[in-house]
Amino acid sequence: MSSAKIWLSSPHMGGTEQKYINEAFESNWIAPLGPNVTGFENTLQEYLGGQVEVAALSAGTAALHLSLIMLGVQQGDEVICQSMTFSASANPIAYQGATPVFIDSEPETWNMCPVALENAIKERIALGKKPKAIIAVHLYGMPYKADEINRIAEAYNIPVIEDSAEALGSTYKGRACGTLGEFGILSFNGNKIITTSGGGALVVKDPELKKKTIFLSTQARDEAPHYQHSVIGYNYRMSNICAGIGRGQMEVLDEHVALRRKVNAYYAEYFKNTEGITVLQEPDNDYFSNHWLTAIHIDPSVYGNTAAEELRLMLEADNIESRPLWKPMHLQPVFEKAPYYGGTIAEDLFKNGLCLPSGSNMTEAEIKRIGTVLDKFFKTKLSEAF
Ligand SMILES: *Cc1c(COP(=O)(O)O)cnc(C)c1O
Repeated sequence: MSSAKIWLSSPHMGGTEQKYINEAFESNWIAPLGPNVTGFENTLQEYLGGQVEVAALSAGTAALHLSLIMLGVQQGDEVICQSMTFSASANPIAYQGATPVFIDSEPETWNMCPVALENAIKERIALGKKPKAIIAVHLYGMPYKADEINRIAEAYNIPVIEDSAEALGSTYKGRACGTLGEFGILSFNGNKIITTSGGGALVVKDPELKKKTIFLSTQARDEAPHYQHSVIGYNYRMSNICAGIGRGQMEVLDEHVALRRKVNAYYAEYFKNTEGITVLQEPDNDYFSNHWLTAIHIDPSVYGNTAAEELRLMLEADNIESRPLWKPMHLQPVFEKAPYYGGTIAEDLFKNGLCLPSGSNMTEAEIKRIGTVLDKFFKTKLSEAF
């Protein structure tokens, strides 16, 4: 294990981040507001196509939580959520005392299945409770079937919260991910496509909603010289230091998307003629993924039921980090009582999937090192299968 560690996805600085941080120090804007926060928000707004308002927050989770609050989600309500996701998509539902209703994935994008979604809505309404919101996720940067999801959401008049935490830089039919729902969530956590060390943003369509987001995220102070509060507030605003990192990162975002897509293309080419391996890729040209992480599915009928874990361990033995796909929320102990609609697609992806190293800062030598382990693994495995 003398080789240096290859990470699944690690921070990749562009070079100008430090300059923006220095400006914050020089002007003493070391606060949850300031020129970097405004500058970062403006750059994001422009990047997303200009028709939206962006509020920079302390985390993507905070953005999800505030969107539920602004939709009036409260104790006893139900909120629909994609099951195949990171727990941060679902936790804010519980913060509000509401119940998540989980939905299976479809096999093309691995995201929320529109058929299971509509079944769930019909049944929850028949049971007497109309869901208050739909949280759909662009997994690993791959856009979900936005037209189908939006059509159903509109038919039943339920707002969509678009969890675009993994999908900054992705587009669907030419429209930026983050702008496809009523609310859009972005994350700038350490291993996302760009990072502010920790942070997130809420994307809204209406300037009034942005004002409200900032109000709620800065402890909900009424307009008065003293500290007066009429509603419960939160400490969710992004700091001017973090936003400085974000401004620098925005300058290299497109370059990083191109590099991640190159990594994905490498894996796709590598597995092109390998039986039983599916690399998550765009179903057609309507979809453009930032390919934040490249994920594969390993057919258990070719390789056996434990192949994904065996491959993970073999990579780990060579100091290479890979990671199982998200464990679906309906299989999590903490959500075991939540209703679930769908079949076993998400479960199969979890059991037989693996995320491969996908960083935009990987070197050619590192990619070759990964390839050597894959060669070793799949040669053995394929010969065992025949
Ligand atoms: C990272 C992530 C979040 C949460 O973002 P934070 O900034 O870490 O709070 C939410 N949803 C998904 C799908 C994520 O990957």
